[in-house]
Amino acid sequence: MLDRLRNAFQILSRDADVEAALKEVQRALLSADVDVQTVLQLTKEIKEAEIPKGVPKSQYVTKLLFDKLVEILGGHRREFPVVPQRIMLLGLYGSGKTTTAAKLGHWLQKRGLKVLLVAADTHRPGAYDQLKQLAEQANLGFFGIKGEKDPVKIVEEAMKQRADVYIVDTAGRTTLDDELIEEVKRIRDVLIPDKILLVIPADMGQAAGREARRFKEEVGVDGVIITKMDGSGKGGGAISACFNTGVPVYFIGTGEHIRDFDVFDAKRFVSNILGVPDIKKLMELAKETEIKPEDILEGPYDINKFYAQLAATRNMGPIDKVLQMLGIASVPKEVKKMTEEKFKKYDAIYKSMTKYERSHPEVLKNPSRIRRIARGSGTTEEDVKAFLRDFKRSEKLIKKFKNKRYLKKMEKMLAQGNLQGLM
Ligand code: GDP
Ligand code: MG
Repeated sequence: MLDRLRNAFQILSRDADVEAALKEVQRALLSADVDVQTVLQLTKEIKEAEIPKGVPKSQYVTKLLFDKLVEILGGHRREFPVVPQRIMLLGLYGSGKTTTAAKLGHWLQKRGLKVLLVAADTHRPGAYDQLKQLAEQANLGFFGIKGEKDPVKIVEEAMKQRADVYIVDTAGRTTLDDELIEEVKRIRDVLIPDKILLVIPADMGQAAGREARRFKEEVGVDGVIITKMDGSGKGGGAISACFNTGVPVYFIGTGEHIRDFDVFDAKRFVSNILGVPDIKKLMELAKETEIKPEDILEGPYDINKFYAQLAATRNMGPIDKVLQMLGIASVPKEVKKMTEEKFKKYDAIYKSMTKYERSHPEVLKNPSRIRRIARGSGTTEEDVKAFLRDFKRSEKLIKKFKNKRYLKKMEKMLAQGNLQGLM
């Protein structure tokens, strides 16, 4: 999927055949388990869009596709209401409902609400204990009736407890069947939830769209939570699910721990799925750093270039892959993992260097220069040496990048839409 989409974007970015690129987009989305109807609808809308005069067609199509995907997922940021409410979680067996109940409870409690987790999964042995344990861990209220087989009774009793937010964990099944639908409907009718949230794991394929549609039609769905975003799944199925239900994604689960839970950001999600950056941000950044592939690759590599790259990868986070696609060699992995504190130091060190030093890094072998820069930047000589080591690492990478053979290899991979080998 990623390879295909990258290829599509590659075609688009070369301002080549838009039709061909759209075909590639279709294939990519299909192979990511987005359902056929969604894909056709999406590409049809893009094809029919009127392209403003003076804007390169391919660029416009790229932006449209990006925006469409973001829109399907519920827009840039959809705030989850922090108010007293009743929440019901839906989803198949193993999707992450019980874990999510605790994560969401924790999230709301941190914002000042008193939360009660309600154990209404009476099918799975151990469901009661699992939720109870999670509630204890997160210091959340818990209600359940051990041995009770009717979830409706449990919910009725739970509602007699005092809390601001009730989060009801329901049972799943391995497949969505009539029995499950009947059960959640009965729970819904006594709970009268303010929000019904569908929990979808990121590795769920085609079935996610169908499941979402069925739940929406039969029970109603107000929002989606995607779990297991830390795993191999990219959440492609979630696109179909949202397209089919027209509801936004509110949160993502990124691990097994209660804190592994984030507010969903559609732009970031689409950027990740497509392997392209937030385009606006990229443009802004390009202006800000004035960093162009030619600039980095042509002429001798120096500290100014290193600094420009540092600033760029910092602002752009995970999309340095795209920098590579655009031909801007990224900084090495070790350099990328830079904390805020370390960057501040590097920034100060850079600013304490003279113009001459920045473009003639070889003179920085001199210990007295290192001492002067350390003093001037309020850092230690060790810090300055670390800076220079990281610069050397980058220089090596750039050399490799400039190496003809490497460029040839990259060209070939791009032609095949395969960038894995480069990353
Ligand atoms: P349920 O059957 O829908 O209630 O699913 P559970 O909450 O019991 O989760 C099933 C499994 O997935 C458990 O082992 C969880 O620890 C795990 N899990 C849930 N959410 C996440 C997540 O965001 N990331 C990871 N890595 N594992 C998760
Ligand atoms: Mg469960």
